[in-house]
Amino acid sequence: MDLLIGGRARAAADSARFAVREPATGAELATVARAGLPDVDAALRAATEAFDAGVWANRSATERGRVLLRVATLMREHGEELAVLEARNAGHPIADARWEVEAAAGTFEYYAGAANKLFGEVVPVQDPGLDVVLREPVGVCALIVPWNFPLLITCWKAAPALACGNAVVIKPASLTPLTALRLGELLVEAGVPEGCVSVLPGPGATIGDALVGDPRVHKIGFTGETKTGAAILRTSSENIARVSLELGGKSACVVFADADWQRAAAETPMAVFANAGQDCCARSRIVVERPVYDDFVAAFTRHTEAIHVGAPLDAATEMGPMISPAQRQVSIDYLEVAETEGAERVTGGEVPDDPGAFLTPAVLAGVRNEMRVAQEEIFGPVACVIPFDDEADAIRIANDVPYGLSGSVFTRDLGRAIRVSRAIRTGVLSVNTNRSVRTEAPFGGYKRSGLGRELGMHAMHHYTEVKNVFFSSE
Ligand code: NDP
Repeated sequence: MDLLIGGRARAAADSARFAVREPATGAELATVARAGLPDVDAALRAATEAFDAGVWANRSATERGRVLLRVATLMREHGEELAVLEARNAGHPIADARWEVEAAAGTFEYYAGAANKLFGEVVPVQDPGLDVVLREPVGVCALIVPWNFPLLITCWKAAPALACGNAVVIKPASLTPLTALRLGELLVEAGVPEGCVSVLPGPGATIGDALVGDPRVHKIGFTGETKTGAAILRTSSENIARVSLELGGKSACVVFADADWQRAAAETPMAVFANAGQDCCARSRIVVERPVYDDFVAAFTRHTEAIHVGAPLDAATEMGPMISPAQRQVSIDYLEVAETEGAERVTGGEVPDDPGAFLTPAVLAGVRNEMRVAQEEIFGPVACVIPFDDEADAIRIANDVPYGLSGSVFTRDLGRAIRVSRAIRTGVLSVNTNRSVRTEAPFGGYKRSGLGRELGMHAMHHYTEVKNVFFSSE
């Protein structure tokens, strides 16, 4: 596939290409044009011209919404194609990939409806006249996306950015550029003006860095590693670009003895091992009250061992390969660290005899929260089960990590549910479920998990500037 610059397919200026691999087999899946610095310049020129000419921003919000609704329709019409592409490129089980495509189309649907519901304000100022607050598009947005949910995360950024009237330049992860390129084509087909859509696969260290440091970029929406987010803040600071960051996590699932802990033990394995644990919201620390700890570990292990690990296109598969052998090695190294630290590996962590990047889901028991495996984001299929003594201990453990993205609390005690969910410092928290993400509700992190919020109407605020206009009546 080629780059998409100003809505048009183009080879890279230097004709460079790179191979995209299929993690389930290690085989080459496609070759893709590799953007270089001249391509960044061309995409930003196209975006700037389109934005300055007002070809999208000056259309009515209702009209923009109609175009975005067509995007959702086109995504559904091409749903199976997108799902298979995502399953093969990112290694997602096909059933998950189908759900992700539907959720991605649903994101466009939501922001299609939101476009003409972003209201301004009238401020009761003291001066005689009328004071209004307008929300205006921020300008050219660089949207930088990781490999773990390539299509969905692209849509979480592109849909609100476009709904608000901005021009977007999308930088997909080098490992998984295929669905973003296809989405770019569908955006143009639906009627988003060409100049407002560019998709640039290529190395983050060069073209990602060039994008975030370019004064023509007004807003950066980034999802990825915390240290990359910190680098982006530094690089973009010179231009005072607006930045929102969705970064790493080390989320806790807190299970009290009074809860339906058998249900928690049945549901929580997929809250860690879905997408082979490569999920910023993964409940990688399962914090369980001592009276039920041993029984919980036994039940959790039984459910983990029942997870069907297999080929992404097999409908029975619940967990596919990891994104690459290198990413798998990170988990294997952490399992060794866990052993040195004195944790017990109850199950998993095996590498099947297969060319794909598979690793069986691993359960570590007897983990203390100060261990590295409980403090650092592994981003792989490794669950740490940690015992706690009482409510205060549970809150202390849940909060004692540098991250603050997500989490869950299982209890039947309403008062406790309220106290604990208020005390845990994360941007997202679920009670008696592990589901973290709802298109209509804000999503993002406290502490080193990020800056700003995606989804819901909150995202629209990040893709707009606030303008105050005063009309004198004197
Ligand atoms: P990275 O931070 O390495 O990469 C994310 C994106 O940034 C990629 O497109 C990458 O390009 C690009 N990039 C890399 N370096 C730079 C740079 N200097 N300037 C600009 N862009 C750059 O993360 P991963 O792709 O490895 O994703 C895994 C990480 O993302 C995990 O730590 C995970 O927790 C986090 N994550 C957080 C989520 C959240 O919502 N909070 C959601 C998903 C993941 P390239 O691919 O070419 O390197």
